[in-house]
Amino acid sequence: MILNGKETAIKLNHELQLKIQQDIQQFRPPHLAIILVGSHPASLSYIKGKLKAAESVGIKATLHHFGDDVSTLMIYDKIQELNQDEQVDGMILQLPLPKHLDEAYLTQAIDVTKDADGFHVLNQGLLYQGKSSVKPATPYGMTLLLNAYNIDVLGKHAVIVGRSNIVGFPIARLLMDLGATITVCHSKTKDLSYHTKQADILVVSVGKPHLIDKNMIKKDAIILDVGINKVDGKLVGDVNFNDVVDHVSAITPVPGGVGPMTIHALLLNTYHLYEKHVKIKTK
Ligand code: NAP
Repeated sequence: MILNGKETAIKLNHELQLKIQQDIQQFRPPHLAIILVGSHPASLSYIKGKLKAAESVGIKATLHHFGDDVSTLMIYDKIQELNQDEQVDGMILQLPLPKHLDEAYLTQAIDVTKDADGFHVLNQGLLYQGKSSVKPATPYGMTLLLNAYNIDVLGKHAVIVGRSNIVGFPIARLLMDLGATITVCHSKTKDLSYHTKQADILVVSVGKPHLIDKNMIKKDAIILDVGINKVDGKLVGDVNFNDVVDHVSAITPVPGGVGPMTIHALLLNTYHLYEKHVKIKTK
């Protein structure tokens, strides 16, 4: 079974669009502010996708685009301005930033009630305590995809390869919350394939093309491939799709798997923040 993130995101975006259409009969539309620094082709392409998707569901999206030579202070000031703006519900700072900018400082400057990416330490802390919070978009999107295909995680062994703060670590927590038993692997893991072969659900978020092949998976595993790599001008994942596809019970393609679900989850996060903002304002 191919876990078609593109089709699922279209369906879920449509459901979100209907909710927003109802809301705007009473309130202003949701508003997502996007801060982009520089003109890295991958970032520009992600931003284009986010802007298009936001507009398609009725979320107003505004882009604040800075040149490579911008200072940390200038971005900080823009974040403060958007924090104060009552018309802005969600904000994202497109990563990675150029090396001279203080990424950790700027990510934490975003108001916790506008943190559409869920990268703020307070939101991550809430997540790790199992409390409701804004969930980082990629892991959240993956859980929505599993749900859309009625894949029950309860009691399964989920092996995560990669321990980044934005994917590997939070998806471990979310899958654990859904009742999975978790193993997290990383660059220091000895005998990676020993662990990946135990996985009922294998999540790979490393950024190495075709790191995982059929000799490294258990038959009928469910594979979520987060990696996005360009090889010979084509996008490929961290899993060798063609090699493993006949040995798995379900797999996300690259492109068209986790990526569109990440964008959907970002829109959903923005909508949840909006709901809180407009409800507080009308009390
Ligand atoms: P990241 O911050 O780049 O970190 C990579 C992780 O992989 C680290 O935890 C690292 O271990 C681990 N690693 C590196 N080499 C390894 C190896 N040989 N064996 C096992 N683990 C290894 O990760 P990320 O931000 O999660 O991004 C990973 C990939 O996902 C990239 O291709 C990125 O473009 C893609 N991505 C896609 C989406 C989407 O929406 N589809 C979203 C986010 C990211 P250490 O911690 O020990 O260094």
